[in-house]
Amino acid sequence: MWKDFFFQLLTKHRTLVLAGIGLPVGTVFDAVLRLRNLYYEKFASAPEEHAQRVASVQSQVQRWASVPPNERKPMCTDRKTWMNLSTRFAPKHTWHRIKMSGLRDVLSLDEDSQVVHVEPFVTVGQITRYLLPRGYMLAVTLEIEEATVGGLAMAVGMTTHSHKVGLFQENVKAYEVVLADGTLVRATAESHPDLFYALPWSHGTLGMLVGLSLRVIPVKPYVHMKYTPTYSQAEYCERIRELSCAADAPDFVEATVYQKDRAVIMCGRFAEVTEDAQRRKINKIGLPHKPWFYKHVEQFLDHEGEEYIPLPHYLMRHNRSIFWVVADMIPQGNHPLFRALLGWMMPPKIAFLKFSTTPMVRKMTFTLQVFQDIVLPMSAMSRAVDKVDELFQMYPLLIYPSRVYDHRAEGLAGGGQLPPPRPQDRIPNTNYGMYFDLGVYGVPGPIKKGKPFRTVHAMREMESFTQQVGGFPFLYADTFMTREEFEQMFDLSLYRAVRRKYHAEGAFPDLYDKIKPEVDVFAVLEEEKSFPVN
Ligand SMILES: Cc1cc2nc3c(=O)[nH]c(=O)nc-3n(C[C@H](O)[C@H](O)[C@H](O)COP(=O)(O)OP(=O)(O)OC[C@H]3O[C@@H](n4cnc5c(N)ncnc54)[C@H](O)[C@@H]3O)c2cc1C
Repeated sequence: MWKDFFFQLLTKHRTLVLAGIGLPVGTVFDAVLRLRNLYYEKFASAPEEHAQRVASVQSQVQRWASVPPNERKPMCTDRKTWMNLSTRFAPKHTWHRIKMSGLRDVLSLDEDSQVVHVEPFVTVGQITRYLLPRGYMLAVTLEIEEATVGGLAMAVGMTTHSHKVGLFQENVKAYEVVLADGTLVRATAESHPDLFYALPWSHGTLGMLVGLSLRVIPVKPYVHMKYTPTYSQAEYCERIRELSCAADAPDFVEATVYQKDRAVIMCGRFAEVTEDAQRRKINKIGLPHKPWFYKHVEQFLDHEGEEYIPLPHYLMRHNRSIFWVVADMIPQGNHPLFRALLGWMMPPKIAFLKFSTTPMVRKMTFTLQVFQDIVLPMSAMSRAVDKVDELFQMYPLLIYPSRVYDHRAEGLAGGGQLPPPRPQDRIPNTNYGMYFDLGVYGVPGPIKKGKPFRTVHAMREMESFTQQVGGFPFLYADTFMTREEFEQMFDLSLYRAVRRKYHAEGAFPDLYDKIKPEVDVFAVLEEEKSFPVN
């Protein structure tokens, strides 16, 4: 009874709980984690023990393999489910957890080949702190410090540099994987093309990842940002396409859409700051008292602007407001007084948010809110914005352009889980199409107005649209597809062959079972049928 009362309190007063308890507790929680990580990075890091840590994973997997088949449960990593960035709570307690979260060292940097060798639980914050002083960054990174390189490699990663280099997977040179029988394999495009191309988007269902070789790019200390307002949908769609495909494309391209016909396009180029006129334009956007980045950008809706952003501030620009997700949790969070007094505690830690999620709050994450990153071909940009407008009536929307490569020409093994770009979406004389990530985060307009809303119905319609135009959603977010629909959206032919060949069937969960929400979204679909049609 006390438990129910406590859960109800936590659900009803979540904003108060977040600002009053979540922020301070989350800050202490974060401070402890940071201190622990700092201590680990400075004093306890032991790259020379990598081989021992891998051997420990191998022996645990071998022990698992020696158990009679009917007594084995599928394997997964021991990363706590509340630590990851997915909206799901994977039912890890029903699987066999392999102890491997100690694999979190940066192992080496080869500056000649511009490749960094890392363990999978290295976080984006950690690798950025390691690489920037050495003059590099990951070719594809993420704006959220807590994401791990292993998570980005086994799922997906995309950033504002992806229009030049593609998704995270295009920048992996080698995966070191412990297979279902305990064998260690170093998979490259040449040595094991089938495994190499099936591992991204596999969510750890082909093997345990114990090491990665990743491409890095040289950097400069600042990003020169230009903000350009646009006042028609045709204008911003065309401008983003031109910028992303140009031979001299900017290093970073991004757009925030504030209304169907109003967007700010951001172009960033690596820069040195050497002159006083440039120094006067430096903006340390990541300081706690500064406005949230998307609010800062909104100011440029009625005039052009430019500034120099220190690179670490640029790379974490969406961190304090988790894009605009925090705005619905702590509506006062961007008030100057709040920023001045409590800004240093932001954002509420995702791990804390997940840790304090009750079953009711979990249901609210997909019935009252939308968290989706959807990859769509550029040719569908205006239709996609129209669709979101029609279905959810919510803004802002995030747009990151990205190449999506097709390696099928290199042989059958080159076909991964992603549907290949359609002929009309390919860039002539290349093996890629130009796509974009449409980030839809927040509370749908009708819900904000207090109206009943069929969220799951709307999400399923969005998924159906995505499939019609040849797109696909990131799988960290909740999916509302049935198994059959999922198998129509993604191409699982290579994945299935690799599961058989490397004995992953039964050893690791099946992909759909791993990524489907742990709650019954189809029961909610039924419930929603009693609501008025949206
Ligand atoms: C609001 C929001 C916005 C986002 N926007 C973006 C964006 O713009 N661009 C972008 O790229 N991403 C974005 N993401 C999502 C993020 O990229 C993913 O969640 C990503 O998977 C990294 O998170 P993680 O490290 O917590 O991965 P996890 O969830 O821990 O891992 C991902 C999958 O890989 C498996 N896995 C992880 N490590 C291993 C291993 N060592 N061996 C075997 N399997 C393993 C896990 O079991 C899991 O299935 C966003 C997330 C949020 C919440």
